[in-house]
Amino acid sequence: MRTDETHASPALRLPSVDQLLQRLGDAIDTHGRAHVTACVRAELAATRAGIRGGLPAPGGETLLAAIRRRAEESGRANLRPVFNLTGTVLHTNLGRAQLAEAAIAAMVDAARAPCALEYDLASGGRGDRDDLVSPLIAEIVGQGSPDIAATVVNNNAAAVLLALDTLAKGREAIVSRGELVEIGGAFRIPDIMRRAGARLVEIGTTNRTHARDYGDAITARTALLMKVHTSNYAVVGFTQAVEETEIAAIARQHGLPFLVDLGSGTLADLSRWQLPREPTPQDSLAAGADLVTFSGDKLLGGPQAGLIVGRRDLVARIKKNPLKRALRVGKTTLAALEATLRLYRDPDRLATRLPTLRLLARPATEIAAAAARLQPAVQAALGTGIAVGIAPCNGQIGSGALPVERLPSSALCLRVAGKRPGRALAALDAAFRALPVPVIGRIADDAYWLDLRCLDPADETRFVGQLVALRV
Ligand SMILES: *Cc1c(COP(=O)(O)O)cnc(C)c1O
Repeated sequence: MRTDETHASPALRLPSVDQLLQRLGDAIDTHGRAHVTACVRAELAATRAGIRGGLPAPGGETLLAAIRRRAEESGRANLRPVFNLTGTVLHTNLGRAQLAEAAIAAMVDAARAPCALEYDLASGGRGDRDDLVSPLIAEIVGQGSPDIAATVVNNNAAAVLLALDTLAKGREAIVSRGELVEIGGAFRIPDIMRRAGARLVEIGTTNRTHARDYGDAITARTALLMKVHTSNYAVVGFTQAVEETEIAAIARQHGLPFLVDLGSGTLADLSRWQLPREPTPQDSLAAGADLVTFSGDKLLGGPQAGLIVGRRDLVARIKKNPLKRALRVGKTTLAALEATLRLYRDPDRLATRLPTLRLLARPATEIAAAAARLQPAVQAALGTGIAVGIAPCNGQIGSGALPVERLPSSALCLRVAGKRPGRALAALDAAFRALPVPVIGRIADDAYWLDLRCLDPADETRFVGQLVALRV
């Protein structure tokens, strides 16, 4: 029995599923018969509900258009590219680092064909996936030292977990109170410690920790000393932290390993590009750290990964931990990581090849020029109700790197009339997010800001072109 017939007369006049499908050949070609059929049924059900609620029955063309829209929308990828105009270059919610072309190509190759992931091409025997990148990392970070090795896991949170689980399970790890950081997305040093089965021994105070605090806390139960880079905050004022060289010396005196969670860990000296200096794994290892962990997709500019780098014997122990198997990365990640690391061999061309660095080092004058270029087109697209101005603004690196540093930039600053523009700005924000390539800006100081640092000049035409679809 057709349900249409049990309802009031307008519903009776709705076309049948088959009749509609006959008119939807184009949509079926694109999305497949099963998906379009499901959309037809869903749209008919919604229409009948509307009719029962007192809405008029739609015409056939309106119904067909609604079905096409439904198929289009649900057929669209959930993970979609966006324009990141937030001013935060490494935006965790927007996927952090944009990969270098070399890394993208390597991922595609690794995805498409079989690859020597754990296969030693020289001997024909089994290989080790970490060997794809470990020598490269030793070359970049340890000047090729044979005592330096590396292993790669899913992210830096996993790297810290694995290192603690291997080296400090059932024992104590000593950390300064000033470094008990929480990273967005619920990574907290005390929680990770607990999960790794290590007992956290907090030393010093929030603002000041001294070398003697480390020495005084060491007992027979101590497994390691740990330093955590205070990525997303700064302790300022009357403060005291102990240098890595000093902690390393204390650790060595007691025969304990010294672990540093660097967080971002860039491999290049950023001051070369007039950027604020961020500590590197090279610095930590030179200062005497035994192991350093850091992310692949923060300042390194590669794929999501966690790197554990340092003393070969400790890395070997970590690799034997069964948890390593659960936290390992796949071939596409390793492909992207290897290609990204290779770029660091040529620092002269790094800023043109590595998007993260290119965006961070982009001159403010160039961004201002982009703002001047784009302002007329954006003003024209928005009409007279919204004033599009050009204003200086401050972006940030993001993902916890150098949290108090600002990146001077230029923005299009959109203002709406009225004393309390909150709702209008929220609507504007939503309209930009609803574009075919969603635009992510930010609301601040009674305006909607589009920081242009991360708008690739090659994308400007596409950015402006889609503004005709803006519904404000
Ligand atoms: C970002 C960060 C982490 C977490 O790294 P993920 O790669 O996001 O897992 C851990 N520790 C510090 C200090 C960080 O900055």
